Amino acid sequence: MGSHYDVVVVGAGFAGLYAVHKMRDELGLDVQAFEAAGGVGGTWWWNRYPGARCDFESIHYSYSFSEEIQREWEWSERFAGQPEILAYLEWVADKLDVRRAFRFNTRVTSTTWDDKAARWIICTDDGATCTARFVVSCVGGLSVAKEPEFPGSETFRGELYRTSSWPHEPVDLTGKRVAVIGTGSTGIQVIQEIANEAAELTVFQRTPNFAAPLGNEPVDLAQRRWNAEHHAELRAGSRQHMIGVPYDPPSGPALAATPDERRRIFDKYWDRGGFRLLVSTFSDVIFNQQANETIAEYIRERIRERVKDPATAALLCPTDHPYASKRPPFETGYYEAYNLPHVHLVDVRSAPIEAITPTGVRTSSKSYEFDVIILATGFDVFTRPLLNLGLRGRDGLKLEDRWANGPTSYLGVQIAGFPNLFVINGPKSAVALYNVPLATEDNVNFVAAALARAIADKTATFEATYEAEEAWGRLCEGILNLTVIPHSKGSWYMGENIPGKARAAYFFSGGAPLYRAICAEIAHVGYGGFALDRVSAPIPPMVRLDPAAALLLGSMLARGMKPLDELNLDEVRAVAESLRELQLPGPAMRVETVEAPRARIYIPDRAGPLPVIVFYHGGGWISGSLDLADAPCRRLADENGAMVVSAHYRLAPEHSFPAATDDTFAALSWVWKHVSAYGGDPGRIVVMGESAGANLAAVAAIRARDAGIPLAGQVLIYPPIDPEASTASRTEFADGPFFTRAIGEKMWGAYLGGAELTELAAPSRASSLAGLAPALVLTLELDMSRDEAEDYAGALASAGVPVRLHRFDGLFHGVFNMSAFIPRVREMYASIGEFVATCKEQITEAA
Ligand code: FAD
Ligand code: NAP
Repeated sequence: MGSHYDVVVVGAGFAGLYAVHKMRDELGLDVQAFEAAGGVGGTWWWNRYPGARCDFESIHYSYSFSEEIQREWEWSERFAGQPEILAYLEWVADKLDVRRAFRFNTRVTSTTWDDKAARWIICTDDGATCTARFVVSCVGGLSVAKEPEFPGSETFRGELYRTSSWPHEPVDLTGKRVAVIGTGSTGIQVIQEIANEAAELTVFQRTPNFAAPLGNEPVDLAQRRWNAEHHAELRAGSRQHMIGVPYDPPSGPALAATPDERRRIFDKYWDRGGFRLLVSTFSDVIFNQQANETIAEYIRERIRERVKDPATAALLCPTDHPYASKRPPFETGYYEAYNLPHVHLVDVRSAPIEAITPTGVRTSSKSYEFDVIILATGFDVFTRPLLNLGLRGRDGLKLEDRWANGPTSYLGVQIAGFPNLFVINGPKSAVALYNVPLATEDNVNFVAAALARAIADKTATFEATYEAEEAWGRLCEGILNLTVIPHSKGSWYMGENIPGKARAAYFFSGGAPLYRAICAEIAHVGYGGFALDRVSAPIPPMVRLDPAAALLLGSMLARGMKPLDELNLDEVRAVAESLRELQLPGPAMRVETVEAPRARIYIPDRAGPLPVIVFYHGGGWISGSLDLADAPCRRLADENGAMVVSAHYRLAPEHSFPAATDDTFAALSWVWKHVSAYGGDPGRIVVMGESAGANLAAVAAIRARDAGIPLAGQVLIYPPIDPEASTASRTEFADGPFFTRAIGEKMWGAYLGGAELTELAAPSRASSLAGLAPALVLTLELDMSRDEAEDYAGALASAGVPVRLHRFDGLFHGVFNMSAFIPRVREMYASIGEFVATCKEQITEAA
């Protein structure tokens, strides 16, 4: 056995260079690194094909961790070409003096966990072996070329090149008959670059792509310096953006815009490059097929404008997958290349390639002769580079077996069963839709902090639990299923470009801000979902989120939402009102307003007398309004065939306790006396509230019993019950999601205004709960008031009150007002509907 190291790093791309620097220079660890290539650069060492360049602006597609590196390096083009990116990575490697940590031209071939010694045994293709406490894989997602399905490459008598292992010497294509197979990002870059050089260029296209102009241009000397000096302001906010570049936010949903408005916005971002066409145009194009079709058709129109021959244009227009369901490519003169007389497009969807022959390419309908064939057929993405490490984990577990049904991981960073193996930019990380250098830095920083913790605590093994991996897998899958991405065909996004590869979610598509927030939470709670020396910490709330709730939270973070407890009163009120934008619109119906007590009465067009719901809005007693409750009340009225009286109450801190409870009870008393004048049935009143409004509803139910007002039911939607409750959910969800213990305490404090705590604020303190109206209590798994609400339901039941308790997993406090974005809010309405229906029956029977 050779030497022993603290850490072995594999790979010398963006990830490996930074990982070595971080582990060696910042953590002071003994690091050995391996790289199969002859030098540093990773992707940019291998992919030297003509036209290779990045498609995030270089000022963004570069490291951010060092002020000095950012200030000193100047980019000569907006989107740098491969030679310049490679030169940058070589310069960074020298600056950080990381080359000496690497053995180049050395491939790791087997990586075996030794459970007894709690270390990895690493073998390389030069026959050497070493051991390490930790392995940090930086092998890249796009570092193993796909093997083409057709045979015969080795028989070709001309020159055959793969774009991903392009020769280091110049390749002269002048005067030659050249074939390019593949029209992904790579094929497109090659084709547009060599179209003028080859004598004949034949492009074999199976699936056309939605390519948009890159908008590249040289950067003059003065601008280069300015950019380097102003990198901080140019990059500010990058990590708060969904894809890690501070592009303009979208202009709302495409489906809400007129065709002219859509055209104006698409025109604005069409040729500005760097994913702006996707992320800066409309918010729904990635989520809604119909919205997606508006942008897809726009791009098709642009293609038809640029390609002269209508038949060729038609072949170049994608029609079988939504825009961005495959990774969108960018181009510079790609479509114009097909106007050249010596450039030919061959459709190999209708006549597939059968073989490469000694003289060229044979499809099912024809044989073609070439001097040069260029394979731009893509990569076996994410999984193959890791599988090629020959990983054997605990008890000889093979990674191949572990991943037989598709890749699993926790955050993309660890794989259960493989202790002390950390992966940078692994499957199910955020990297596919997150500017890679920043995603890389985030992953490396997370791993470095984990290693530092393990070393400080003398932890021998650090590993993801199977349960955490499953929860993470569900979240990745769930979020992906809310997008149009699963509607693609043959995309590496879904593993579908490789025959036989499992179709799955290969990456986390919730965006950078959410991914970062989840990683931060996991670290903050002591590595929740990981087992340290086999003792596992619970899976943190954000990993258990309902996918739609997670996405919504992610977009709030992307819009710069501050934690609620950091907001002042006006800001809290503004946030509460802004929730109206997250609600499904309510149906039109007759609405009466009453001034004393102030209320709105929603009257559906049904034969009366109607059952009545008295509704109190949420907002922590300090915010919220009849406007906030408008859409939910319409929906409640419509779905339940009930009259809904939405009651105003005075807000704290201007009006502290007992103003709100007095107002809400006064409204209920008024309804009982006067609702028949509006067509309501005073014998069938259900009192209902959301959040603080549910607390007021519970108290109103007690006051109604004591005042002899008969109620048919009470519906308490995640009610806070007692400010002094000491429950597990208060601790577990103290930091959210969304609603925190600190804001809850502020709200209670403002409401009570120093008053003594009685049953009029904390209904569980009532001397008796017997004789109260039947109750429906809705609670949410990830809500700090969950347990007190469930305890209250238990107390009601013990007092003989008929109670239904319905807990919704994956949801957080406040979701009732987010119905447009969280489809499962429908289930809350359905539960209310069933309950209200039984209340009607009960009363009818009693009558
Ligand atoms: P890589 O750069 O892939 O480095 C991994 C290294 O690990 C490789 O050098 C490989 O040789 C080595 N390795 C793998 N297995 C072993 C082993 N068993 N033993 C030893 N060494 C091993 N992303 C963007 O965000 N924007 C872009 O514009 C962009 N353009 C791209 C253009 C091309 C042509 C390609 C192919 C990818 C592009 N990407 C882009 C994605 C790109 O892969 C990442 O941005 C980034 O370069 C990945 O860095 P990495 O360090 O994670 O992996
Ligand atoms: P790709 O997107 O997977 O494209 C591969 C192409 O080869 C597709 O057109 C595919 O057609 C075709 N192909 C594969 N097998 C074929 C077969 N048997 N017959 C005919 N055609 C076949 O791969 P890529 O272009 O190398 O890009 C991979 C990723 O690298 C990109 O998505 C991007 O993330 C990154 N990249 C980025 C840039 C950039 O601009 N910055 C440049 C290059 C690469 P089907 O679609 O029909 O399968």
